[in-house]
Amino acid sequence: MTSQNSGEPNFASSGTGSASGSGSISSSQNDNASPLWNYVTKLEKKEAIGGTWNFRCNICGETRSGSYTRVKAHLLQISGGGVAICKKESSLSKGFYFCCNSRHSRLCAPGYNKLRTSLLLQEKSNVDKLLQPIKATWQEKGVTIVCDGWSDPTRKPLINFMATSGSGPMFLKAVNCFGEVKDKFFIANLMKEVIDEVGHQNVVQIITDNASNCKGAGEIIESMYPHIYWTPCVVHTLNLALKNICSA
Ligand SMILES: [Zn+2]
Repeated sequence: MTSQNSGEPNFASSGTGSASGSGSISSSQNDNASPLWNYVTKLEKKEAIGGTWNFRCNICGETRSGSYTRVKAHLLQISGGGVAICKKESSLSKGFYFCCNSRHSRLCAPGYNKLRTSLLLQEKSNVDKLLQPIKATWQEKGVTIVCDGWSDPTRKPLINFMATSGSGPMFLKAVNCFGEVKDKFFIANLMKEVIDEVGHQNVVQIITDNASNCKGAGEIIESMYPHIYWTPCVVHTLNLALKNICSA
């Protein structure tokens, strides 16, 4: 901290600018980027161009002069800044040194309970908000419910549900069906829940693979909701057909 003029960027050019009426503009521009100006009172501008002022400290009441760098050095009690430091200890300087010394060691990550309760709910509502533009088009464009069965890395059977429309696909949920008998009634029940969540009037069709239990579930859904069609997945159908041909 040896240079004296480092905080006065316009010092060299101050002789060439026009001398009239530039003071109030530059001071108001400074307010967002240099909040510490709010803790001193500007008395008079020292040069027509640049940010050098005579200022009075609102904390200790003493008058100093300089640019924002010196205001900062005075208020935050940084010695070697080319200006006498503030003699009164304030919450400004305390806060500054607390942040400098703590190295964030006192900032703790949120615990298990906060993560699984309030933070999880907050994030869920945030995701809901982000998905709202897609949901808003469902009524107009119609929704296809797509469902498929998977096993997760621990071999637990999952059935996932997606809602796709002209605006894009959206993951709805994955159901853990460990220990369940995956017959057509079980699958049809899950589908009904999803259809009611989306709103049955928005749903045009459901697409599943062409296994017999899914086909049966599709028929149950078609009988429950006459306006919803069941469509077997073409890729899975071809897959089954080729398997049959090859095994023959
Ligand atoms: Zn002061």
